[in-house]
Amino acid sequence: MTSRETEPARHRRIARRPFLKAAGAAMVVASVGGVGSAQAADRRGAAADESADALIIGAGYAGVTVARELSARGMKPLVLEARKRTGGRIWTDTFSGEQVEIGGGWVGEQQALVQRELTRYGITTSPDIGPERMLLPGDSGLESMTPEEAVGALGPLWAEFYRGSESYFERPYEPLHRRDLLVDVDGLSLADRLRQLSLSPREFHRLNSETSLYSGGPSSIGALTGMSQWFQLAGGNYESFLSMNQKPAGGMISLLRAMLAEARAEVRLQSAVTRITESNGAVTVEVSSGKRYTAPLVVVATPTNVWQDIVFQPGLPPAHATAARQGIGVPHSNKLWLHVRGRTEALFAQTPEGSPISMMLPQQQLADGRLMVAFAGPSLDTSDPLAVQEAVRQFLPGSSLIRYRTMDWGRDRYARGGWGLRRPGQLLNLFPRIEEPHGRILFAGADIARGWHGAYIEGAIESGLRAASQAVALVG
Ligand SMILES: Cc1cc2nc3c(=O)[nH]c(=O)nc-3n(C[C@H](O)[C@H](O)[C@H](O)COP(=O)(O)OP(=O)(O)OC[C@H]3O[C@@H](n4cnc5c(N)ncnc54)[C@H](O)[C@@H]3O)c2cc1C
Repeated sequence: MTSRETEPARHRRIARRPFLKAAGAAMVVASVGGVGSAQAADRRGAAADESADALIIGAGYAGVTVARELSARGMKPLVLEARKRTGGRIWTDTFSGEQVEIGGGWVGEQQALVQRELTRYGITTSPDIGPERMLLPGDSGLESMTPEEAVGALGPLWAEFYRGSESYFERPYEPLHRRDLLVDVDGLSLADRLRQLSLSPREFHRLNSETSLYSGGPSSIGALTGMSQWFQLAGGNYESFLSMNQKPAGGMISLLRAMLAEARAEVRLQSAVTRITESNGAVTVEVSSGKRYTAPLVVVATPTNVWQDIVFQPGLPPAHATAARQGIGVPHSNKLWLHVRGRTEALFAQTPEGSPISMMLPQQQLADGRLMVAFAGPSLDTSDPLAVQEAVRQFLPGSSLIRYRTMDWGRDRYARGGWGLRRPGQLLNLFPRIEEPHGRILFAGADIARGWHGAYIEGAIESGLRAASQAVALVG
């Protein structure tokens, strides 16, 4: 079980509402599979059960972008989605009666594609709740300060951390433009970069709280060029990076639903693809029920980390095989929703690498308590209500939790990781080959985006647009 809701006081689970309400578009239907896997093997040589103009695997932002673009060009794509819902790593749901985001939660004004899509469907955004007080690592424990003091302390540190990225990402939307300069930095992890700087222990911890959070574990996981590209895309300063805190009306899923409604593409839920075979100028796709589909092309719009679960025939080319093996989605991404009893100030907290909770952000105050979002580090057992309660008391001494909900994306079988953050060396080793089609098998997804890669739906849309153009070029 990767997503759970708990009431510490009574230690009991709350039954969650069915997933299907999140499905959205009218044409979303459940799969009608039913053929066992042994039978499936027998049928492998047989003709496919259904055909489409294009098959799209995954109904996240990347896959839905492809579906809409191909539909707009008169094609009839079919989307195969493993889950019982659309959205993938975007999951707008409820907690304590409030609409919440279990996966990605914010967009930014700097993200041109998202802004264009929001405008297209008339979806407004509003800024998230700002903190009244901040806790940052200090010389002994956490230090309390105003938000202005915190930005004043962190801004120069991040400027130093990212120094040079304005040159090696001179054009952040064309990350390979200064390949000559990247050669010296792309192999560096975030931890390597921290070691390069002459930081006091306090400064070191103020930075590594975020580098470890974004790495989904130790700061040695994420590439310096991964985060520094985001920094340059955001505008090259800490305050503009922080400003990416907009929430779309109706939640992060509202835009995806609008795109899907326009696409009028059929989505088959509970259709986990297990095999993709290209032969004789066509692609055949098999799902876990044994059902088979054929089309002139397929777009694989799943997280990179699950490519290893699909049998590709012919096998993946070297860049794709490397990405599948190394992963791009971060290994540990456990997002918690907390309902803290009583009236609580809007507190933002950040802790040194290795802490049970890496970051906590304030959300709305309700009649009986405040909601908060937290990101758990690998050391916190989020299935243990007492451990979670204890971790929250690190920031809010004496507080008590009414309930909490946790989603461990690293253990989710259709994500196998959280947001994407390239590993050291991956920019130069994988790009641009990872963007290229493999015969009639095309690839999309935020993890392999060129601009806002990994941790942003902007990247999913960007890569979906690219894959759709490749698909159109392929079928002429
Ligand atoms: C905790 C968390 C916080 C985040 N915060 C933000 C944020 O604030 N802002 C932001 O913009 N982004 C954020 N992100 C990142 C964002 O969610 C992703 O970048 C984006 O949603 C990825 O879209 P995608 O379409 O590439 O992949 P996904 O959304 O992962 O979609 C891929 C789809 O493929 C399906 N699939 C997988 N395997 C198979 C299979 N074998 N057969 C069929 N279907 C399959 C999956 O079920 C899924 O629906 C966050 C992510 C996480 C996990």
